[in-house]
Amino acid sequence: MSLSADSLRPYIREIADFPKPGILFRDIVPLLGNGQALHDTAALIAQRAQANGAEALVGIEARGFLFGCAAAALAKMPFVPLRKPGKLPGETISAQYSLEYGVDALEAPKDGLKPGAKVALIDDLIATGGTAQAGVQLIRDLGAEPTVGIFVVELTGLGGREAVEAAGMKVESLLVYDE
Ligand code: AMP
Repeated sequence: MSLSADSLRPYIREIADFPKPGILFRDIVPLLGNGQALHDTAALIAQRAQANGAEALVGIEARGFLFGCAAAALAKMPFVPLRKPGKLPGETISAQYSLEYGVDALEAPKDGLKPGAKVALIDDLIATGGTAQAGVQLIRDLGAEPTVGIFVVELTGLGGREAVEAAGMKVESLLVYDE
């Protein structure tokens, strides 16, 4: 059966002024709350990862875990979590990225990916692309190849796609919203 990404659109809720005034938050909780929509989202991500030749999926804390892990299970591919600092045990590597105010970082397990493996990066949403760029750096620093970033929601007009493509990773999204 062919799945339509557009059928997922009713399950993305818009919440104005969250987490601060001026931000229109795209909430994926209604999508998680519908079993068919959740399945279809994971299946579409898995299909796109496979179509791009990915051999492993990485997901960005926290909402990238929800979709990335479900898609990896469907595709029977390994899943690697990219976590906020201080959460992963053992040896890790780190990449910083800019926020509107200040910086944050992501960490990956040092032995997380096979050298040379083609990797799909998964997150719920791409806005400026700063978070995804940190993911690209971590995948490369682990010796693997960032092949495609797959996002449930893409906000256009914030330069995210362009920034990530300039960093050398293809961008795919299930739903596009003009900001
Ligand atoms: P960016 O690094 O600017 O591409 O932001 C992407 C990250 O921030 C993702 O992990 C999203 O979960 C979160 N995010 C940014 N903007 C929004 C938004 N308008 N609604 C929901 N999540 C957002």
